[in-house]
Amino acid sequence: MKRVAILGGGPAGAFAAEQLAAAGLKVSLFDEKLAWEKPCGGGLTYKAYSQYPFLIENDTPKRLVTETVLAAPKAGDVSLKLGDPLLIYSRFDLNRMLLERAARAGANVEKARVTAMTRGANGWQIRTNAGIANADFCIVATGARNPLRDVGTQLRAGDTMSALGYYVPGDQARIDIQFLDGLEGYIWIFPRCGHLSVGICGKGEPAPMLRQRLERFMDQRGIAWKGSAFYSHLLPALEAGSWKKNRVSGEGWMAVGDAAGLVDPITGEGLYYAIRSGDLAAQSVLAAAPTESQMAENYRRLLRRDFASDLEFGSRLAQRVFVGRFLFGSVPARMVQFTRRSPRFSNIMQDLFAGKQPYLGLKKRLLRNLNGSLYEIGMSLSFSRLVPRKARA
Ligand SMILES: Cc1cc2nc3c(=O)[nH]c(=O)nc-3n(C[C@H](O)[C@H](O)[C@H](O)COP(=O)(O)OP(=O)(O)OC[C@H]3O[C@@H](n4cnc5c(N)ncnc54)[C@H](O)[C@@H]3O)c2cc1C
Repeated sequence: MKRVAILGGGPAGAFAAEQLAAAGLKVSLFDEKLAWEKPCGGGLTYKAYSQYPFLIENDTPKRLVTETVLAAPKAGDVSLKLGDPLLIYSRFDLNRMLLERAARAGANVEKARVTAMTRGANGWQIRTNAGIANADFCIVATGARNPLRDVGTQLRAGDTMSALGYYVPGDQARIDIQFLDGLEGYIWIFPRCGHLSVGICGKGEPAPMLRQRLERFMDQRGIAWKGSAFYSHLLPALEAGSWKKNRVSGEGWMAVGDAAGLVDPITGEGLYYAIRSGDLAAQSVLAAAPTESQMAENYRRLLRRDFASDLEFGSRLAQRVFVGRFLFGSVPARMVQFTRRSPRFSNIMQDLFAGKQPYLGLKKRLLRNLNGSLYEIGMSLSFSRLVPRKARA
């Protein structure tokens, strides 16, 4: 295989292009916008930058955030210190950095919209608004709104979340996460360089209702949304049953990132999985299995082993995390209360935020720590009853 076409130049496509071009393949990447401010929080976890250190070791502007405040109805809020900071980029800057790396590695990066891809005896013919290109292999990286019908995840209504919000003037050092009654989703306030991104994501609720919930929240917080720049986009959030049927590869192509539905169904984190799947797709292409169907199967196997089984398990937990009940209260309220009262539970939450605690294995760790956590909660409650607040201060 000599010529690879990468369709879409977001984090998934750009990283795959860099890896393949660096290995000496002839790579052409097509993106209709190139670097742009894709609607996104821009948050990168420890899991991402510990595996790909260039994501933190660079001159591109970014914020390092070391505190998250979690809040839930009837539970107040709690501050969670992040031992492993979260990085926050503007997507324009992050995309530009990744595209520049791909170009430096030797990829030909072209601003063009892909309108069709067809396969003939001599490989792929890719039609763009600028002309026609030929390739032996295609990597589909066109994001959640992939317009290429025959390749990539076939998202059904239950497999997506709406995500929308406002970029507002302002600054704060911390991230805010607000859970809401009856919503499988949450509101976030992310500090970015020069402004805040305030947004909401949710499953099973129409976007206008989510927008109302967000604007009510912003009104209560005194954050002006009128006149602020609005954004909205689709977020893959596959149902548990959809993972098995997920169309991530076929003869002569592989899908990466959002186009392959590779997003955490609970948090909406997709940047790490975009970059990681771009990497795994490149590895599968370079490993050059004897047949194309074996190459496609190798990629599926790599994905499953690396993180897709964990995301599939996350899909089974998602509803319980947001709208489930535990000890006569909502799960989000209990999460806030336990984080406040139990250092052990707080450590688990920190590891979840950093991406160090997979969903597979979470139940075991929670159960292992349950007695200790409940003991800490009991001690913390009796301490607060015995010692008046003033004396504690
Ligand atoms: C509101 C919101 C907030 C989010 N916040 C976070 C967060 O904080 N952290 C996190 O990890 N994830 C977050 N995500 C998820 C994250 O944005 C995505 O998972 C990530 O962008 C996926 O990268 P990608 O390269 O697969 O797709 P994209 O970034 O969507 O890139 C796809 C690229 O393909 C191009 N393209 C599409 N169609 C064509 C075509 N026909 N021809 C040529 N080019 C085309 C587009 O121009 C685009 O550049 C958020 C998502 C949303 C919607």
